[in-house]
Amino acid sequence: MDNKQKEQILRSSGVNVLKCMRCGKCTATCPNYEEMEYHPHEFVYMVEKGDLEKLMASQSIYRCLTCFACVERCPRGVEPAKLIEAVRLAAVHRQGENHIVPDDIPGMLDDDLPQQAIVSVFRKYTK
Ligand code: SF4
Ligand code: SF4
Repeated sequence: MDNKQKEQILRSSGVNVLKCMRCGKCTATCPNYEEMEYHPHEFVYMVEKGDLEKLMASQSIYRCLTCFACVERCPRGVEPAKLIEAVRLAAVHRQGENHIVPDDIPGMLDDDLPQQAIVSVFRKYTK
């Protein structure tokens, strides 16, 4: 796994994985535990190790509910949900999914579509 990708995920999430003491409280509180192959404490640990490929290929990045229960529960302020979101965005960008470029926009416009919707999707998917 390339170190640059790890650094980019750490930077964009703002998470300091080194603060984690591996207590597992984040995972114990996750309401979507059953549906997630990798759990919040594993995201923290695996990103620290640079083991990103498995995380980026896992459905867990889409199954996280972004409920922030893991963030609330963490005694060390690690904020695993932010890390999961950063891994998801990295995977989406790499796959080229959900990604539009300015030249795509004119073709999307029609009389029924609020321009605000285009602006919103453009902001969201070009992060
Ligand atoms: S609750 Fe916080 S300190 Fe404990 S395992 Fe999860 S991220 Fe690490
Ligand atoms: S934000 Fe995601 S990982 Fe964290 S508790 Fe909610 S569903 Fe679980």
